[in-house]
Amino acid sequence: MTYGRFEFEPLPPYRDPRDALVKALPSLAPPRKVSVVEAAEASMRVNINNAWTRFRRETVPYMIEPMNMATSRDYRAMIFAGPSRSGKTMLLNAVWSHDITCDPARIGFYVDERTTRDSYERNTFSPIVRNSPDLAAKRGSGRGSDTIDSKIFVGGTHITLDPVSGARLQERSLSKALATEFDQYGPDIDGEGEPLNLMLARTYMAGSRGMVIVESSPRAPEIDESEISADPHVPPKVQYGVFSHYPDTTRARLYWPCPDCGTLFVPSYDMLVVPDCADDHEAGQSAKMCCPHCRGLISPDHKLEMLAASVWQHMGVEGRPVTLQSGDVFETDMLGYWLDGTQAAFMPWADIVVKMRQAERAFESTGDESKLRSVVNTRIGTAYRPRAGSGGEIAIDDLRKKAEATPSRQAVAPDWTRFITISVDTQSTYFCVGVTAWGLDGRHQPIDRFDLNTPPDGPDGPVKRVLKPGLYTDDWAVLDALETMRWPVDGSDWAIGAVAAAVDMQGERATTDNAYKFLRRRKKAGAGSFWHLSRGRGVRKKKEFRDRVWQARPETASGTSKKRKVARDIVLLNMATDRLKVAVSASLVMTEAGPNYCAVPDWMTSDQLLEMTAERRDDDGHWSKRPGFVRNESLDHLVQARALFIITGGERINLDAPPDWARLDQTNPFARFIGEIEDAPQQDVSAAPSDTWIPDRENWL
Ligand SMILES: [Zn+2]
Repeated sequence: MTYGRFEFEPLPPYRDPRDALVKALPSLAPPRKVSVVEAAEASMRVNINNAWTRFRRETVPYMIEPMNMATSRDYRAMIFAGPSRSGKTMLLNAVWSHDITCDPARIGFYVDERTTRDSYERNTFSPIVRNSPDLAAKRGSGRGSDTIDSKIFVGGTHITLDPVSGARLQERSLSKALATEFDQYGPDIDGEGEPLNLMLARTYMAGSRGMVIVESSPRAPEIDESEISADPHVPPKVQYGVFSHYPDTTRARLYWPCPDCGTLFVPSYDMLVVPDCADDHEAGQSAKMCCPHCRGLISPDHKLEMLAASVWQHMGVEGRPVTLQSGDVFETDMLGYWLDGTQAAFMPWADIVVKMRQAERAFESTGDESKLRSVVNTRIGTAYRPRAGSGGEIAIDDLRKKAEATPSRQAVAPDWTRFITISVDTQSTYFCVGVTAWGLDGRHQPIDRFDLNTPPDGPDGPVKRVLKPGLYTDDWAVLDALETMRWPVDGSDWAIGAVAAAVDMQGERATTDNAYKFLRRRKKAGAGSFWHLSRGRGVRKKKEFRDRVWQARPETASGTSKKRKVARDIVLLNMATDRLKVAVSASLVMTEAGPNYCAVPDWMTSDQLLEMTAERRDDDGHWSKRPGFVRNESLDHLVQARALFIITGGERINLDAPPDWARLDQTNPFARFIGEIEDAPQQDVSAAPSDTWIPDRENWL
């Protein structure tokens, strides 16, 4: 263990290791009945401030019980949820080093990925063994007994270090499975199942000797923020990770006594009282904890003594917190420990406060939540609740309020409109069309919405079936009319048509091929630049696309799909949807009209407004539908509209000299005059309908 780069609380007084040795010595005969803590004190060295020193239980008093319970035959698993710098990896290290010297076992040690494994082996595992004489003496000498992923020790302990994978969790029968940073594994391992269950299956053959121990900062995002419990034994609701299992465990929290009134309580970040000063470090240094009972302010100087007097209280059968020794603990085969960030031995309160303040500021200035999420997960040690707005989440009530403030008629563009875009969401039996009006500063508003669900007339008249864009190429002809549609601009003499339209090319069966055929046909008709086939591109594992929007030909077919023809003549509008949705949601959340503001019209139905709230962003920045939401067309329309806005140059408009297509006058090829003809002689008006004296623009495309 290397703690050199960490700031440190003053350590408790040194304890003579001979005390522990004397305790350990009487039980030399195999199997040695030595507790994990006793074995760690006798045999495990830890690196503190760049010096290798004996492990002392006083350093992490709250680890004593979990360490010793690791060999319990009453429990099959142990969950430890806590922040970084709490010594939770030390728990796992103490367990395997105990087994090397006292209780030979087959151990699987799991990490999230290969690089983590390599770093753990190089910086933690091997140095501990090398610097602990008792462990070093047990190192196996045979070929393959000390590789990066397999460690064999004299006496029979065999430890494998593996990045977690379905294959790794299938092949072995283990007596112990140890997992570090468990929440990084996600909800499922290679489609084989939930990671804890897979590990439990591996230790099943070991019977009561089998034990699974997982530790993690709780990184899975909170899913149901409507339920907030005041009970410290009830964690936030999440879909995977340590907090998803904690409710099924004994649910222990660490209680410590108030130095003023002596009452035991579970601290939390919210109990810290931070003075209102501009300097982060000054604020951090002055932070004190407010006792929930006597309201006394506790200074950080008392942290060590409170930790020394702390006690794990599990959920009792009567629903009251009790100690393990009481014998009244809730019946379950899993132990659960949840440590608060303010209790982490190696993390001062000041440090949490400073990091939190910095993250809050980063969020306010950029709308980026990643820092905030990391501080909450790893410093405070709880699940992150996405902030409303700025890509966090769009609240339906806020949208309703905006709609009430925007009285408007459907199919009429607001007076600030200078150009229009059309978004088409392709469904199995209809095209869902959304029309968006744009002002010069990027302000925008949905102005029309309708479904195209009737197939175009065949040679023998109307076709009696539903529209099927994924089956019939001819059905795409219903879209042609969108090229010439015009929408009147409120308070003006002009109606304008769209500068461009995006059609979703992804869908069932032959949707993509039909989309290509449609685009080829429109190109022949001279309307090729009007149409864009849009394709959503989600974030690939934690990596973002460089651009929000880009145009490219379809990729060359490879591997098994070689037979499929590559459409070399087609250019697709690629949309990094996760990034675009952040911007869309930020403009929906805005309440003051101005650049980038999205006005929500009051003619939209409740369902259409709900569609805008249908998705939320997860931990990795990926947007997906919220449970229970089926439709999201309003949101998709705005994403396509923003992609068109970017690709047509909407972000680069010079407000003083807008291009022709963004002006409300006769220079705009998309605009049609619909007002009174003022300077024409009265008697000529009926003879000269506006359509004939305004240049025919039906074929300008
Ligand atoms: Zn008190």
